[in-house]
Amino acid sequence: MSKRRVLITGGAGFLGSHLCDRFLAEGFEVVCMDNLITGDLRNIEHLFGNSSFHFYNQDVTEFIHVPGDLYAVLHFASPASPIDYLELPIQTLKVGSLGTHKALGLARSKGARFLLASTSECYGDPLVHPQREDYWGNVNPVGPRGVYDEAKRFAEAMTMAYHRYHKLETRIIRIFNTYGPRMRLNDGRALPAFMSQALRGEDVTVFGDGSQTRSFCYVDDLVEGIYRLLHSNEVYPTNIGNPAEMTIRDFAEEVVKLCGSKSKLVFKPLPEDDPKVRQPDITKARRVLGWEPKVDLATGLERTLAYFRSRLELVPAGKPGQKPSDKRA
Ligand code: UDP
Repeated sequence: MSKRRVLITGGAGFLGSHLCDRFLAEGFEVVCMDNLITGDLRNIEHLFGNSSFHFYNQDVTEFIHVPGDLYAVLHFASPASPIDYLELPIQTLKVGSLGTHKALGLARSKGARFLLASTSECYGDPLVHPQREDYWGNVNPVGPRGVYDEAKRFAEAMTMAYHRYHKLETRIIRIFNTYGPRMRLNDGRALPAFMSQALRGEDVTVFGDGSQTRSFCYVDDLVEGIYRLLHSNEVYPTNIGNPAEMTIRDFAEEVVKLCGSKSKLVFKPLPEDDPKVRQPDITKARRVLGWEPKVDLATGLERTLAYFRSRLELVPAGKPGQKPSDKRA
């Protein structure tokens, strides 16, 4: 019997590339699609010798064609950091709306399962804490993050419409802050910023007074949650994230300490609409998927540090605002 095939859009990105690894390890054939705006071939170059792996350099907002059968479509293509939304606002809106429509249409034509990578950003600057899946959120549609938040909210609505109207088997994951190897060094997110700055001995830039909170999940835990959700029967959105909440200031101090760095924290203005708190309620994931995170922060940060050290030896210092399409870092 031929192997079951999955399509992973955004497969050359941070999360997408880890998914490619996982599905290949599970014996699937993997079709990875990416237009490399924020994805990076270095994340998947170790897979090019594998005959079960295929790479299509394509923009998923255009008509997408994949020959042969597909068991599942996992839609992970999207810019995904606040700096990326600022630099790529139209692409962010297009991939969440047009790209999701194209990926759904392909899944329907193949009779494939569809899994949407959605986000805790659907909750915006939340007024309910921790966030449960039945909270509808507090999103500013016209702020700088609106391009991402509203695109993903639209994508969820479109996914549910395909489920209800076309009877497509669909799954929606709401991903909370995730970290690990293959994050872009200069994408402006907290972990890459803090770790790169600490390793270079530069000031570590904490936005606001650092009292805003986040809850960080190691990438392997997230991938396990995605894999289980795809094979579950749960149609409505499911939070996957690590509920261990901490202030960004404490997080920055933890990273500096781990790096053995003498870097000092410096405080910069808080970006517009930066959520004040964020913590997933994972009651549903525990109940429906039997899933919970296993990797603690110290272990996850150690593994990530090894990656950052190896990458920083290879690339010159870059600015946090560096264009995502600039592949030097
Ligand atoms: N942050 C920070 N310094 C940085 C980058 C980010 O203090 O150099 C803060 C940011 O304002 C936010 C938190 O860290 O409060 C997490 O930011 P990130 O961009 O990683 O993710 P998101 O805001 O989407 O959760």
